[in-house]
Amino acid sequence: MEIFFGIAIFLLGLIIGSFLNVCICRLPKRISIVASRSACPACGTTLKPRDLVPVLSYLFLGGRCRYCKAKISLQYPLVEALTGALYLLLYVRFGLVWPLPVYLALVSLLIVISVIDISHMEIPDGLVIAGLVVGGAQLTASIFTPYFGAWYSYVIGFFAGGLPLLLIALFCTYALKKDAIGGGDIKLMAFCGLVIGRKLVITAYLIGIVAGAIFGLLLMALSKRKGSDAIPFGPFLSLGVVLSLFFGDVLIDWYLGLLV
Ligand SMILES: [Zn+2]
Repeated sequence: MEIFFGIAIFLLGLIIGSFLNVCICRLPKRISIVASRSACPACGTTLKPRDLVPVLSYLFLGGRCRYCKAKISLQYPLVEALTGALYLLLYVRFGLVWPLPVYLALVSLLIVISVIDISHMEIPDGLVIAGLVVGGAQLTASIFTPYFGAWYSYVIGFFAGGLPLLLIALFCTYALKKDAIGGGDIKLMAFCGLVIGRKLVITAYLIGIVAGAIFGLLLMALSKRKGSDAIPFGPFLSLGVVLSLFFGDVLIDWYLGLLV
């Protein structure tokens, strides 16, 4: 039975991943995500269901449009496979209980945010609002179920997520006269803190900052970029949030173990 649910959740992830691709392509262009059928961006042919099977259509068609043979971006199968894999892993980690739907929604949002941030260097406000809705659901659940710990842990998480980046941003803007932190990153960590609570948002920060710093140093070492060039921070913060869903508790226990 567990294997059955695992497969079902993996397939659900693939299908949702396909929808996330639609959001990634349309949200930055302010096009409705439900209004029209998917079409090939090169030739404009409306795609049929057999062209839209997650991952498999891409593999079967050899990464090219069935109608005009234009190359299809690798982003499509990657986002679908990543969503399916994360859905399955979250199910394995948490089982079929409450935080699962909230975490599935959160991870979906973070995938869309990360890809849009990489390609457009911005985080659309609509996605932030969706994140606040997910956080509101978590907060409401925590009021009614003791399993989640105190409700104020999530309220504190909201501020613990948003305030550090806000303070750094204010410092950079007024003291250094430089806009180093995007407003989107601040809002991202605020709603993530509301969803995952005060403890995990701190490990998310640590992982995100370390991952971003390592990546930045690698890029500089490979001299592809100079230190002053902006790197989107959203994907690293998102990575930190996702990893702390899986390993945050273990990290905190390990760290507290060092102190005793
Ligand atoms: Zn085409």
